[in-house]
Amino acid sequence: DEPPTSPPPFRKKPIVLLFMGMAGSGKTTLVQRLNLELNSQGTKSYYVNLDPAVKSVPFAANIDIRDTVNYKEVMKQYELGPNGAIMTSLNLFATRFDQVLSILEKRAPDLEYVLVDTPGQIEVFTWSASGAIITEALASSFPTLLVYVVDTPRTSSPTTFMSNMLYACSILYKTRLPIVLTFNKTDILSHTFAVDWMEDFEKFQEGLDRQGEDMGYMSTLIRSMSLVLDEFYKTLRKVGVSAASGDGIDVFFRAVDEAAEEFARDY
Ligand code: GDP
Ligand code: MG
Repeated sequence: DEPPTSPPPFRKKPIVLLFMGMAGSGKTTLVQRLNLELNSQGTKSYYVNLDPAVKSVPFAANIDIRDTVNYKEVMKQYELGPNGAIMTSLNLFATRFDQVLSILEKRAPDLEYVLVDTPGQIEVFTWSASGAIITEALASSFPTLLVYVVDTPRTSSPTTFMSNMLYACSILYKTRLPIVLTFNKTDILSHTFAVDWMEDFEKFQEGLDRQGEDMGYMSTLIRSMSLVLDEFYKTLRKVGVSAASGDGIDVFFRAVDEAAEEFARDY
């Protein structure tokens, strides 16, 4: 007799994680760290690279845009600069994204997570038609979460912090997908200051005051914008990780699973 297998309660497998964040925030390093971690736990996952210009990926991606599109050739053939070539490569790849989806659908029963790395420069993906097409295609097939990666040490001034959060907020409005705000590089600087700022408006104000220079109307603007952000902060989960050391990866997956559990009931 076959043992009865009970279907998983809510969530459809796999969970897709779309990594976004400013260039250099550590998306690629984090995806590789998570991939390594999942492999060593024996958790089946898939790794999709959408960055046509990435030089090397230490762990082979299961699906790699570079297998389909030659970025250097695109640059030559269309006489484009680096950014234009990345954008065009992504456009070319987006036209075949149905093939990626059907591979994922086929493998889905075996997979827990699909990790999708996006091009270094954030706007190439977030503000392009192909980025939107790919995001929508993924999100209509699988529970999809955005992992917004923040370079913690480079976001430690209140004004930079706020611009980065406004960017994350704009992505939320554009995609309407749940966000796991991931403060990376905690081996250099702990993310506790950021959590303090998000949870306690007064502390952010103090940070602004400490930043010193009299910013005149800017400071009034920043104060009112941070009130707007307060609403945004309530909608997200936040974790601190170090892609370099592996610190916080367990917390990261807990946050992801919780977010997916809530979200995936719709699927
Ligand atoms: P991406 O452009 O967002 O994909 O960023 P990368 O993954 O290419 O990383 C940019 C730089 O940050 C590289 O030099 C990485 O080695 C470094 N980096 C990434 N994650 C960490 C981390 O957790 N700690 C430290 N100290 N450096 C990191
Ligand atoms: Mg990268």
